[in-house]
Amino acid sequence: MWQLYGQDHVLRQLEASLKQGRLAHAYLLVGPPHVGKMTLALNLAQGVDCASGPGVPCGGCSQCTRIATGHHADVRVVGVIPSPAGEPTRTVIGIDDIKEVLHRTSLKPFEGACGVIIFDGAEAMSEEAANALLKTLEEPPPQVVLLLLTADEEALLPTIRSRCLRLQLRPMAKQQMAERLVAEHGADPPEAERLARLARGCLGWAISARSNPDVLAEREAELARMQEAWESRLEGRFSYASQLASLFFRDRESARQLLFLWLRWWRDLLLIKEGAEEYVHNSDRLAPLRLQATGLSTEQVLGFLKRLLQTLDALDRNANPRLALEVLMLDLPVSP
Ligand SMILES: [Zn+2]
Repeated sequence: MWQLYGQDHVLRQLEASLKQGRLAHAYLLVGPPHVGKMTLALNLAQGVDCASGPGVPCGGCSQCTRIATGHHADVRVVGVIPSPAGEPTRTVIGIDDIKEVLHRTSLKPFEGACGVIIFDGAEAMSEEAANALLKTLEEPPPQVVLLLLTADEEALLPTIRSRCLRLQLRPMAKQQMAERLVAEHGADPPEAERLARLARGCLGWAISARSNPDVLAEREAELARMQEAWESRLEGRFSYASQLASLFFRDRESARQLLFLWLRWWRDLLLIKEGAEEYVHNSDRLAPLRLQATGLSTEQVLGFLKRLLQTLDALDRNANPRLALEVLMLDLPVSP
């Protein structure tokens, strides 16, 4: 069975293609971090190679089990592997990482009906690696399905995007997620409600936040830094912009996620101004939100929200991050 919830639009499409034997050579799985791209990729690999397939994977045969545990010779994951402690973080999928795996596409699958290669964080490919992949996409080998996973499709070469069938994963509804967290992950209802509210539709985030306290602590720290920038004068705000810009160079997706944190905060401020507190995302932060909202006019909140969206858009279009973020900080209303 499928392990992915709340993505029926994608599953129906894949199910039909599997049954008719008309799977595309390459798919682009698009969605925010932790929305379920890797779950879908592994599940699809099972659907391709399942002993009773192709079709909806049984989940129990030896093919399905080996794929789920990462022991299937024909299903490979290529991504940025965290560096050992003390070494600089490697944020690029290089040519050496994908050369070997692409070579494998010319060979027959060893044990399954079809090989599946999963590129996790496909936007992180070096130019050389992307060009090598493009060659493979231009002449797709038989018996191999390529799955490109990305949270930032704009950062991929348009020529790569155009050769993949795009599948958009949607954030899961809050209520549905809370129910899943209770039913399958042992959360109690208030905890499930709180996590579902913070998870922005990404079940994987809620599950990791439950088991790993660092995830929530990280959010606390980011909110504190955001608050500090709000309370600072220009110098402090520029220093925040500069930190965010260097994060953007190192890890583009994390920097975008930080701007989304700002965006949700300022949407919350707008909801409070409009008297719709029950919809606030950061519901555990009502007191500071209310306090900040009283010092701002609705026009100021709307104006800054618009600036945040423009900045995200400009960064997607490869604007200079430092400049874009400094200008954003100039437009941050002055705290009373
Ligand atoms: Zn199976």
